[in-house]
Amino acid sequence: MAGCQHYVRKCSFLAPCCNKIYPCRFCHDAAEQTHELDRKTVQQVKCNQCGALQSVVSHCSECGIKFGFYFCSICRLYDDRDKGQFHCDLCGVCRTGGKEKYFHCKRCDMCYPKSIRSSHRCIEKSSRSNCPICMEDMHSSPIPCQVLRCGHLLHQTCFQACLKSRHNQCPICCTSMT
Ligand SMILES: [Zn+2]
Ligand SMILES: [Zn+2]
Ligand SMILES: [Zn+2]
Ligand SMILES: [Zn+2]
Ligand SMILES: [Zn+2]
Ligand SMILES: [Zn+2]
Ligand SMILES: [Zn+2]
Ligand SMILES: [Zn+2]
Repeated sequence: MAGCQHYVRKCSFLAPCCNKIYPCRFCHDAAEQTHELDRKTVQQVKCNQCGALQSVVSHCSECGIKFGFYFCSICRLYDDRDKGQFHCDLCGVCRTGGKEKYFHCKRCDMCYPKSIRSSHRCIEKSSRSNCPICMEDMHSSPIPCQVLRCGHLLHQTCFQACLKSRHNQCPICCTSMT
């Protein structure tokens, strides 16, 4: 009923690539070593309460429960926690933190807090590279990104881990992060 470690939601989905039911795409990708899920191909969700299989909708057509507080029909994303989710058309994914607090930087190809709008250093498509710490995707990651003074990006969680272990230099260009 509770979803998975990534999302709280009341439905699972049918992955068309392997024909299996998964709570979310991250669970799918972790379990299926051979391929990644293309979210846009998902056509059916399964209600965790009554088990009905149905098209991607906000409420269960059988028992009527709302699958998640937040629902994005483009990303096929459900989440029961209010994290200020919004869909950014230019990113093509859902972001968290409140639409009114964010802007999309076309050069970096990323949504950033408005507070750094004029101060951040743009790096062409910086969000499309992998995190220099964990080597995982940043652009579509559910973990928010931290923009360093030099303009380089890493996951906020990776950034905090760096500071904790007293690595105060950007892993890419070695300028101070703090
Ligand atoms: Zn699959
Ligand atoms: Zn999951
Ligand atoms: Zn149902
Ligand atoms: Zn979305
Ligand atoms: Zn964006
Ligand atoms: Zn930028
Ligand atoms: Zn990372
Ligand atoms: Zn840097």
